Amino acid sequence: MPIYQTISYQVRDTGHAANLFALTGLGNIYTRIMNPTNDVLEKRVATLESGVAALALAKVARLRNAGVDSVNRKHYVAIMQWSGAQDDRKQVIIIGGGASGVLLACHLLRCPTDDLDVTLIEKRPNVGRGIAYYTANPDHLLNVRAANMSAFPDQPDHFWRWLCARQDSGLNWEPCDDPFCFVPRRIYGDYIASLIAPLLSDAERPGRLRVIRGECISIDQGRYGVAITLADGSCHHGDFAVLATGHETAPSCTGCYVDPWTPPADAGVDEDARILILGTGLSMVDYVLSLILVGHKGAIVALSRRGLLPHAHRSVQPLPIDQADVPFGTDITELIRWLRKLINNHLGQGGDWRSVVDGIRPFSQQIWGRLSISARRRFLEHARAWWDVHRHRMAPEVESRINAAIASGLLTVLAAKLCVIESDEAGALIRYRRRGTNHIETMQVDKIVDCRGMGATPLKVINPVLRSLFEHGLARLDPLGIGIDVTSECAVIDQLGIASERLFAVGPLTRATFWEIVAVPDIRNQCLALATRLSRLGDAISLRSASNGKSSAPM
Ligand SMILES: Cc1cc2nc3c(=O)[nH]c(=O)nc-3n(C[C@H](O)[C@H](O)[C@H](O)COP(=O)(O)OP(=O)(O)OC[C@H]3O[C@@H](n4cnc5c(N)ncnc54)[C@H](O)[C@@H]3O)c2cc1C
Repeated sequence: MPIYQTISYQVRDTGHAANLFALTGLGNIYTRIMNPTNDVLEKRVATLESGVAALALAKVARLRNAGVDSVNRKHYVAIMQWSGAQDDRKQVIIIGGGASGVLLACHLLRCPTDDLDVTLIEKRPNVGRGIAYYTANPDHLLNVRAANMSAFPDQPDHFWRWLCARQDSGLNWEPCDDPFCFVPRRIYGDYIASLIAPLLSDAERPGRLRVIRGECISIDQGRYGVAITLADGSCHHGDFAVLATGHETAPSCTGCYVDPWTPPADAGVDEDARILILGTGLSMVDYVLSLILVGHKGAIVALSRRGLLPHAHRSVQPLPIDQADVPFGTDITELIRWLRKLINNHLGQGGDWRSVVDGIRPFSQQIWGRLSISARRRFLEHARAWWDVHRHRMAPEVESRINAAIASGLLTVLAAKLCVIESDEAGALIRYRRRGTNHIETMQVDKIVDCRGMGATPLKVINPVLRSLFEHGLARLDPLGIGIDVTSECAVIDQLGIASERLFAVGPLTRATFWEIVAVPDIRNQCLALATRLSRLGDAISLRSASNGKSSAPM
């Protein structure tokens, strides 16, 4: 717990000070009656006692010397069950209302136990879109065929049926009659948002789903529940918290860097600007499509160590693979040998390598789970780029656009090592070394777009709730540094290696444990499994807490 040491607080001006002392503005004025340490203590006590608020009253505010555990009980009073706490119902708070958060909410509210309420906290204006489905660009297509994008594993054609029902009703998109098609991501965002709407207005079960707009900045967990604090200072209590914060966005862009998720025109990118895109994967493809849409004329260079571009989808069926034939638990070299042999055999029979890659997908998580940490590390270093371009493919229409951009000279893909970026007034001077050479070359660019994906070192993580969890030891980075450490049941593991009973995570954040957990077909399964588990876990934890002697009287 942070202990703040201060005898004075900053005031902006005399007006601000006057408001504080008149108690008309929120803030700290006098260390004995109100200070940040008391605030944290009160929130923690409320969490531990399942209350909605706590009031700490002390003769002296020397918590720093006393230490929280040794604070004499008669010095503070917890006000419990102050208002509206619904003890008999379980409350799950989901942080992040992108696709993962919405899928989890839907699965929780479909649970047969029917005693779960859900609060969804999202900082963006729209729920269900997140980074992937927020785009208004009609050329940003799904990277997965419509047939595989249902929110519900037990109704695989749910999205396709939703789409067919709306083809004629103003989707503003050329209808397709084949579930192999690739739909604009904006439309998929409409689909995810449409799953939430009926839950919010369900007259038979009012209040089971609440959506709160705000940014979560910290989570406290105690024996009896969790307390979620938002940037506006409000605090929300529940039985479980689930992190669904998705893709970690880069620190705010400065100098010549522009945000990959902001349309170029909104980011002030001139149509003649020379642009360097770091990374050559699907995010790079997205950004190039954004530039093409606004008629960009300046040179675009996409650079990565190997310069590999994602392959495109073809209409093929996954190869049926017998689980008994999968070499679980072997090392990376052996696995790749097995995969290559499978592909060569299939090609020899006139098949397509895509069928093999899609065929092993049902086993990917298990394969990853049985690899040692050093094998996973070797995979990331040596095979990941190769795997990614075969596994994360683009729509055929997108492939045509990218090929045309390369053929016209608008886009150049470079296999090179980035040596130095020297910012200057005009933009940046880039020093790089082409793959297979020792010669350092330079290029001058106006703008840089970083499309290399999540930077997961704690210092680079900017999401305040993740930072807070790391800082307070409630979560830790996985040993590979690509996500947070969770168990195979999605429980967040703390700095001491203990799995939480209250705090969970879903979606791309959990990739260190599951690896194959970035796309909807995998996330929906994960959400269903966690929803089922939480609906059962609640009873087990309530029983355990009760037998530990849950107190409802003032301390
Ligand atoms: C550009 C792109 C295209 C993709 N295309 C496809 C595709 O075609 N098919 C497919 O299956 N998958 C696709 N994916 C994979 C994608 O990971 C998943 O489909 C899915 O969108 C992941 O959703 P998410 O909710 O986990 O993450 P996100 O989309 O990142 O959403 C996380 C949400 O949490 C919110 N949030 C974060 N921190 C806080 C906080 N502290 N407080 C409150 N709110 C917070 C964010 O505002 C955001 O809305 C794509 C991914 C990207 C990036």
